[in-house]
Amino acid sequence: MIDTARIRQEFPILSRQVHGKSLVYLDNAATTQKPRQVIAALTRYYSQYNANIHRGIHALAEEATAAYEAVRVQAAQFLGAASEREIVFTRNATESINLFAYTWGRAHLTAGDQILLTEMEHHANLVPWQLVAKATGATLAFIPLTADGQLELKALDQLLSARTKVVALTHMSNVLGTVNPVAEIARKAHAQGAVVLIDAAQSAPHLPINVQQLGGDVLVLSAHKMLGPTGVGVLWARQALLESMEPFLGGGEMISDVQLTSSTWNEVPWKFEAGTPNISGVIAFGEALAYLQRLGMPEVAAHEQQLTRYAIAQLQQLGHLTIYGPTQPGVARGSAVSFNLDGLHPHDVGTVLDAEGVAVRAGHHCAKPLMRRLGVPATVRASFYLYNTPAEVDRLIAALKIVRAFFNRPSRIHA
Ligand code: PMP
Repeated sequence: MIDTARIRQEFPILSRQVHGKSLVYLDNAATTQKPRQVIAALTRYYSQYNANIHRGIHALAEEATAAYEAVRVQAAQFLGAASEREIVFTRNATESINLFAYTWGRAHLTAGDQILLTEMEHHANLVPWQLVAKATGATLAFIPLTADGQLELKALDQLLSARTKVVALTHMSNVLGTVNPVAEIARKAHAQGAVVLIDAAQSAPHLPINVQQLGGDVLVLSAHKMLGPTGVGVLWARQALLESMEPFLGGGEMISDVQLTSSTWNEVPWKFEAGTPNISGVIAFGEALAYLQRLGMPEVAAHEQQLTRYAIAQLQQLGHLTIYGPTQPGVARGSAVSFNLDGLHPHDVGTVLDAEGVAVRAGHHCAKPLMRRLGVPATVRASFYLYNTPAEVDRLIAALKIVRAFFNRPSRIHA
C-alpha cells in the first residue's frame, strides 16, 4: 500500500499554494513532480563532485563517472535489460525515438517497405517516422482504434505483412490511458520479421516494465515523467541491434579513434552518447529510479488503478460529459483520464480549474491525429501519480462543479 501522506511530505512542491488554494497537481502525464532525494542529488553533484565524465583522471571526474555509470546499471535492472550496455542515455523519449528512426530507419527502409504505427501515437512517435518515410520512400500505416479507444487488433492481422519492417507503438496512451497489448503485437510483428519499438514514456512511470516480457526490440522513456529531472531519456535496445546501428550524433566520447578524414566508433552504448551528457540529470534520475523501486512498481500501479477507477466513477456521476478511452472496469488502463464537459471548451474548463488550484492539461496533448479521430479539437486531461489522493479527485470534481456554475451563469448565457 502506498502511504500518500508520508510520500507527499517528500515532494516540496506539493505543499505550495496556487491562486490562494492548495495545489492539486493532476498534470502528471506531462511531467511529474520531484521528491527531495532527486533535488538533493542535483545539488550534491554540483556542490561536491561536478566534473566531466569518462575523461578526467582526477578524483572528481572518477566520482562523477562512477555515479553516472551506476545509473546505467540501475536503469538496466529497472527495465529487466540483459545488460547495462543496452542502455543509451538521451535527452528524452523524443530523442530516443529520433535516434532509432534516423539511424536504423535510413539503413534498413526502402521504397515499398511499411512502417506500422497506431492512430493513438504522440507526435514524438509519428513525426520521426514521417521524416524517415520521406527520406526512404517507405510508407506509413496505422492500426485503427475501436470506439472506446483501444487498438483494433483484427486490423493488425490485415496490416502486418512481410513488407512491415518496423512496428512502433505506445505502451500506454497519453490521452486515452489505454494500455496496449504490446507483447502480443510484438509476437505477431516478429513473425513477419519486423522490428518493434515500444514508446514507454507513459507506461514506465506507472507500471512494472520488463523488456523481456514486453518482447520489443527497442523501448524508450523520459526521466521527467517518472520523478526524474528534465533532459534525460533512455533508449533501450538489444545489444546486437545497437551494435548494428550507425551513430546518430558525431563528436567527442562516441569515437574510438579519429583521423582527419575518418573515425571509428566507441563501443555501445557510448557510441550513441556524443558530447557531454546531462551528468547531473542522469545521476538524479538514479535517485528517482531508487525511489520508485523502494515503493515498488506493482504498488504504484495498484494505487493509481484504484485512484483512476474512483476518478472515472466520480466523473461519470457528475454526468453531462464524455470520457475518452476505456472506462469498463475489467479493461487495463493507465491514469490519464481525458474528458470534455458538454458544451464547454476544454481551455475554458482548464482555466477555471487552474483558478481553483487544480492543474490539468487542456489541449491536443501532442496527439493531433488522435484528436481528429475522436472528433474533438482538444480535451481536458487529468493524470494521476503515486502522490495523488482520493481527496484530490474530490477537489477536481468540486472544481468542475464550479466550472459549470461559472459558465451557466444567466449573464453569460444571455450576454
Ligand atoms: N510518447 C508519449 C506517449 C508521451 O506521452 C510523451 C510526452 N508527452 C512523449 C512520447 C515524449 O516525451 P518527451 O517530450 O519527454 O520526449
